[in-house]
Amino acid sequence: MIIPKTREEIELMRASSLLVSKTLGMIAKEIKPGVTTLYLDKLAEEFIRDHGGVPAFLGLYGFPNSLCMSPNAQVVHGIPNNKPLESGDVISVDCGVLMNEFYGDHAYSFEIGEVAPETKKLLKVTKESLYVGIRQFKAGNRVEDVGNAIQTYCESHGYGVVRELVGHGLGRKMHEDPEMPNYGKKGRGKLFVEGMVVAIEPMINMGTKNIKQLKDGWTILTADMKPSAHFEHNVALIDGKPELLSTFQYVYDALGIESDEEKEFRRTPLVV
Ligand code: MG
Ligand code: MG
Repeated sequence: MIIPKTREEIELMRASSLLVSKTLGMIAKEIKPGVTTLYLDKLAEEFIRDHGGVPAFLGLYGFPNSLCMSPNAQVVHGIPNNKPLESGDVISVDCGVLMNEFYGDHAYSFEIGEVAPETKKLLKVTKESLYVGIRQFKAGNRVEDVGNAIQTYCESHGYGVVRELVGHGLGRKMHEDPEMPNYGKKGRGKLFVEGMVVAIEPMINMGTKNIKQLKDGWTILTADMKPSAHFEHNVALIDGKPELLSTFQYVYDALGIESDEEKEFRRTPLVV
């Protein structure tokens, strides 16, 4: 059952989402060749607690850390470890926060040092597909309208769209209804309702859509070991239109990236 949120609840959720955004911005300053994912995980945990939140992934379903860090062929749910990042790696950093009883949950895929042009393109197209999907999260549309838009866009570039893992509703629980697949048919699935909040999160593979799981019970990898990318935003349906609760602006400020891609999904300019 979809649980719509009041305006007041949505503002609480915005605060949770923005703490994740700030955490990713902090990570963006620290992530580079030679740094370990376990070190970044500890920084994130401290940062979240210092800002009044609780790391939401830590202990969730038994996950051992605060960040899911999934380099290269890892799709999602990678466990931080002591292996230093290397130039040429790409890595999905997924972060969750619980604050004021509401969850924030989003992700950004980072380039480490010099990355191959075809991998850069995978990240670019995956991030573009996130906004292509968000644009379909509007009154009158249904769940699979978002998935269809993401799938069509990514497959037009020859990429594989992961089927087994999906986005989700978000609120007082990390995973609420509805499931938000990154594939589907137009006009199918649950109707969107005013006040609902979702995490839209394309997980896109350079090659096959097929995945496998490591024996650790968590890490999801591409079946062909080609790279995968993952971007995620939290979005509320307000006045029939998608409104971003999360932002990549802190990441962009840290990396010196200029972008206006989020502008159409905000009522008021973001103050960071
Ligand atoms: Mg996430
Ligand atoms: Mg999520």
